[in-house]
Amino acid sequence: MQCELCGRTCDCKAATVDGVLMMLCPDCLIHGELVQAPKAPSKYQKPILERIKKPPVKDIYKDMNKELVSNWNNLIKKAREKKGLTREELGFKIGERTVTIQKIENGDLRPSDKMIEKLEKELRIKLVETISEASTSLGGTRSGSRLTLGDFIKSK
Ligand SMILES: [Zn+2]
Repeated sequence: MQCELCGRTCDCKAATVDGVLMMLCPDCLIHGELVQAPKAPSKYQKPILERIKKPPVKDIYKDMNKELVSNWNNLIKKAREKKGLTREELGFKIGERTVTIQKIENGDLRPSDKMIEKLEKELRIKLVETISEASTSLGGTRSGSRLTLGDFIKSK
């Protein structure tokens, strides 16, 4: 690059001489005003979200695709009666109190997962239904609301 004042080839810098921007060599720079290079952007900062350590992802979907059938309490009651068991007897078999069985059959108490397993085994019934993956990922829409108009007409 050439100095626009003395014509010397040099490592010229941008400067203003009487308001005119020129490329000047170090010697001629004293005649002009050095143009300050724009400030280099401050060091790139990582977005805060990325800097915060993500907590370990919990497997929250593990049990989400299984749900108690809607008529579980009736199902238990009918299955028990079919087997000719009293609430006491069923309670004894699965290690639960009679009151607990009664509450479950009335729908007042949701059986725990362990209890469900024992009831299913003892009464040979299915108390949990598996919700399809698609509806789970869409926020848990129940299968019933996913009927299309076509399904509706067909079922009539
Ligand atoms: Zn010069």
